[in-house]
Amino acid sequence: MTGPLLRVKDLTKNFQVGGGFLSRGADVVHAVDRVSFEIAPGETLGLVGESGSGKSTTGRCILRLIEPTAGEVWFEGHEVTALDAAAFRALCRDMQIIFQDPFASLNPRMTVGAIIGEALTIHNLAPTKRAFTDRVVELLETVGLQAEHMRRYPHEFSGGQRQRIGIARALAVEPKLIVCDEPVSALDVSIQAQVINLLEDLQQKFGLTYLFIAHDLSVVEHISKRVAVMYLGRIVEIASARDLYATPLHPYTEALLSAVPVTDPKARRKRIVLQGEVPSPMHPPSGCHFHTRCPIRKLPLCSTEVPPLEQKRDGHWAACHLRS
Ligand code: SF4
Repeated sequence: MTGPLLRVKDLTKNFQVGGGFLSRGADVVHAVDRVSFEIAPGETLGLVGESGSGKSTTGRCILRLIEPTAGEVWFEGHEVTALDAAAFRALCRDMQIIFQDPFASLNPRMTVGAIIGEALTIHNLAPTKRAFTDRVVELLETVGLQAEHMRRYPHEFSGGQRQRIGIARALAVEPKLIVCDEPVSALDVSIQAQVINLLEDLQQKFGLTYLFIAHDLSVVEHISKRVAVMYLGRIVEIASARDLYATPLHPYTEALLSAVPVTDPKARRKRIVLQGEVPSPMHPPSGCHFHTRCPIRKLPLCSTEVPPLEQKRDGHWAACHLRS
């Protein structure tokens, strides 16, 4: 196909919290605020931000695990957000998710074979018991596990192995897009690299497209072709991975990058320590959401005007009044 596989346009998600009868007095959390991006077939877009930036909510809205408040999600030319339940069920086979916590996302009472094979049954992809078993074994071996593992239970596996089971489950329906929602955050550093290498190998083998969500820029550097950075519900910068790491434009990206450990002393950046806590998404700051912590803010401009996400250089977009 030509054109993007996934297109997200002005995606917005607000949650009501608190309040009593008829929601009087409820507060609103602005979790995702008019987020737009595209992902080409076979591409990996890294989506990075601190806890509460809205990155996981964005991933879940794309798959309609939670319903967006506004905006559009297009997949292969179909507007996902406008489909009724039956039409969406047919399409959602092509869009899968891998969760952060592989233990919490695997039913402890089901064998690994039943967990991986569940979607085969739902989508009628294994007409006989033999076909079911063969396919589950094939999936286990694809992710580096063995046939004998299908009779065991999730608690018998290490964290890295459990994440492999989660990946096999996502692969069972031969998806085109996988939302990887912090898939390595709960794993030891040595295991993180193995899981990322596996995801890269699978992408090559099956032509997969990834939205790879992480809270740390170092995790997405090697797997992502492009990277988007989120702060308090908004994308503040999006660029090719090479440009973003070499010449970041947004002060928030600069601060995140300065915290990434590097082995080459010449490549080390001056550490930028941001002042203050991340503000609550219930009461985000006016103007540029980052102005309360920005080391180069200019007042009153930054506290009154929302900086648009603009293309500052070829393919390099940033939302900052002062950077060009
Ligand atoms: Fe900082 Fe102003 Fe740019 Fe926001 S718009 S990042 S506050 S300089």
